[in-house]
Order: sequence, then structure tokens, then C-alpha cells
Amino acid sequence: MSNKIAIIEDNPDNLHLMMYLLTQFGYTIVSANDGEEGLLLVRREHPDLIICDIQLPKVDGYEIAKTLKKDAALCHIPLIAVTAYAMVGDRAKILAAGYDEYVSKPIDPEHFVRDIERFLILKPNKRKME
Ligand code: MN
Repeated sequence: MSNKIAIIEDNPDNLHLMMYLLTQFGYTIVSANDGEEGLLLVRREHPDLIICDIQLPKVDGYEIAKTLKKDAALCHIPLIAVTAYAMVGDRAKILAAGYDEYVSKPIDPEHFVRDIERFLILKPNKRKME
């Protein structure tokens, strides 16, 4: 069974690029276009990793992180922000909100999957098989 990655992103071009790149490497992708739908998606699918935009309709990326980190069943899932925010202070703010890492837009197709995979190595699902 392949690893399942949830992508919460309202920009269709970015969403399709990330889906395309991750699918090429054998990942199963589930996606949502706004924060509210994103939280429902994560609760339903229990993905191995979550990639989340910060600027999202309905519920933004900060609120998503806050909600997930309060949930004992979901707080362990690696959470990666993908956002156009490029200012130095934003990285600290994003990490403080509960994100494990920050990938900046535009997506760099050559490094994106590798950057994301660093966080899958530590996933509890893999440890369980030992
Ligand atoms: Mn957005």
C-alpha cells in the first residue's frame, strides 16, 4: 500500500503540479480546495503526511495547524506548509503554528518530492511494521 498524502491548496495550478510530482513517485494523493474541507479530509483519510497552503478560503493554514495539533488522533501526522509567503519572519510564525517545515512557492519540481520525503521517513506507520 502506498503512502497517502493530503494536499490542502486552493490554487489549482499548484495543486495539480504537486499532485503530478508526488504521483510520479507512487504516492496516493487526496486533496481539498479550502481549509474547512481540508480538515474533514484529514479526519476521514488519516493521511501519512499533510501539505497545506497558508492562505486558504474559510479556514486558513494557521487555524488548520492549531486544530490538528490539538487532536490526539491527528497531531502526529507530519504537517508541511507550502506558501508564497517568503519573508523571513513568516517561517518562524509557520513553524510556531505547528508546521514541521515550510516549502516556498513557486514549487521547485526538482526538489519538491525530496523535500517532502524527509518527513515521511519518521512516520509512525512505518515504525509499526518493524
Ligand atoms: Mn492559497
